[in-house]
Amino acid sequence: MRAAILRRTGSPLEVSDEVTLVPIEPTDVRVKVHATGLCHSDVHGMDGTLGPLTAIVLGHEGAGEVVETGSAVTTLAVGDHVVLVWSPPCGCCIACVDQRSPHLCTRIQFVQAMRRPFIEGGRSLYAMSGIGSFAEEVVCTEMSCVKIDDDVPWEIGSLIGCAVTTGVGAVFNAARVQPGDTCLVVGCGGVGMSVVQGCRVAGATTVVAVDLQASKRELAMRLGATHGTAPEGLRALTGELTGEANGFDHTFEVVGLPETVRSCYDATRRGGNTIIVGVGSADRTVSFNLAELFWDEKTLRGSYYGSADPRRTIPLILRLWRSGQLDLEAMISHRIGLDDINAAIDQMRRGETNRIVITP
Ligand SMILES: [Zn+2]
Ligand SMILES: [Zn+2]
Repeated sequence: MRAAILRRTGSPLEVSDEVTLVPIEPTDVRVKVHATGLCHSDVHGMDGTLGPLTAIVLGHEGAGEVVETGSAVTTLAVGDHVVLVWSPPCGCCIACVDQRSPHLCTRIQFVQAMRRPFIEGGRSLYAMSGIGSFAEEVVCTEMSCVKIDDDVPWEIGSLIGCAVTTGVGAVFNAARVQPGDTCLVVGCGGVGMSVVQGCRVAGATTVVAVDLQASKRELAMRLGATHGTAPEGLRALTGELTGEANGFDHTFEVVGLPETVRSCYDATRRGGNTIIVGVGSADRTVSFNLAELFWDEKTLRGSYYGSADPRRTIPLILRLWRSGQLDLEAMISHRIGLDDINAAIDQMRRGETNRIVITP
């Protein structure tokens, strides 16, 4: 079968026809990938931000059909449609049982990330997050799959595997936006666009979308942002829109850079929330002075994979999509095959795309 392989950090992906899968373990399933989204985290995987593992099949935002189940699998059957989740809760560790942070469970994710389920030319290959969805089929643990209804389009399922769960979850579970709140979203890729939509669904009355690209600001306005601006317009707009509060109730950083974290913190009102959703690198730092940390009582928190159990967030998102409250179709700008993946990654790096969905 075919898969897109990162052979060395920094190099383009290579599509190989010579890839096979290891036999499944009793708790594994084999899934035929019908759609997989291109996420900025895949690019972080290519440039080494997420670690040095190679050779690796990237891809972590996917949906597909179960085609084989291990002997100990109890929750899935052949033919089931599933969303692949890249940080599945194990259900029994301390992060899982206290109910507050099952999305932070590392038991399955870390073990899965070290597996090498793909084989090419006698050499075994890693799979990103234990998934590796830039392939026609994957082998993963049963826990990495959330079953969805058969009528959910594959491309919608794939987006829910990462971008939408991350963005909407940050609004509902991390910030807990309330009706009438004011929100700022800096960075309008697939995750940022999901944050914008989540803020609208939560009842925010002001949602400001900030992006360098005018086309992304325009799409954000169609999807629920009340205002759009390039970064240089943010300061004036904050004053104009938030008045005496002198900042937004919630700001969402969806870029992963020190300067955007800082500008989100600065644009948060005293006592408000600054939510870090963007994936940044371990060697970049942000400074805060001690006076502002004390006097302004702002909450600065990260939001990882929607900040709640994906088995709860994913069905919620599907209900919101079915009721017409989330427009996920509008977030897809390109549909491509595996062969065009490098050109698509270049386009994404230039900021010319919204979500790109690949049909392996
Ligand atoms: Zn992702
Ligand atoms: Zn756990």
